[in-house]
Amino acid sequence: MIQGQQPRIAETTSMPKGICKLCQKTKPLENSHLIPRAMYQRIRDENVRASWSNPDPIHVGKTVTAHTSRQVTDYVLCTACEDLFNKKGETWMIQQVWRSTAFPLLDRLNLAHPQFEFQDALGYSGTAVGIDTDKLGYFALSVFWRAGVHIWSVGFGQKSTKLDLGIAEKDIRLFLLSQGPIPQTIALIATVCTDQESMGVIVLAQREMEKRRSPLV
Ligand SMILES: [Zn+2]
Repeated sequence: MIQGQQPRIAETTSMPKGICKLCQKTKPLENSHLIPRAMYQRIRDENVRASWSNPDPIHVGKTVTAHTSRQVTDYVLCTACEDLFNKKGETWMIQQVWRSTAFPLLDRLNLAHPQFEFQDALGYSGTAVGIDTDKLGYFALSVFWRAGVHIWSVGFGQKSTKLDLGIAEKDIRLFLLSQGPIPQTIALIATVCTDQESMGVIVLAQREMEKRRSPLV
């Protein structure tokens, strides 16, 4: 047996069976994350490296904003669908986010010419500046979709509010499964924060977001 296989088998036997929300098949379900576990680890490690007084990410919720090590999880997806999310978006995205010594996504924008200049933001074409917009878009849609198909316990006794994805929900699901094109009714704008206070912060997918002073991808 190859080293490393055994924990996965042991893990599978303890996984509850249920209907995976993505492939809609009855399978053992992973303890899925609303925001990927690796994102928490990355931010926590980088906060430690940057010597923040509290290394835990700041959780920004509807009514509570606080440092917490708690991750938002529930049994939602099967292993195959988790792997799909990893390969098609998360693995790339993790490499792009802020670290104390660099911020690859922002560093790339800083080397490029903006297409638009607004009063408090710059606008870029992600494709034109060489950003893998397929993976960025897939990752973002996967997070919004997760927030639209499940009510999550987000800590501090609160539950998430399901995002209303409307008629796009089915098409997003098929797109995430690689069984359909990106829905024509969707426009995705990614914001890259330039202010230091926003780095090390995890904002859960929710309907209303505060305006941020930052360039757009
Ligand atoms: Zn599945």
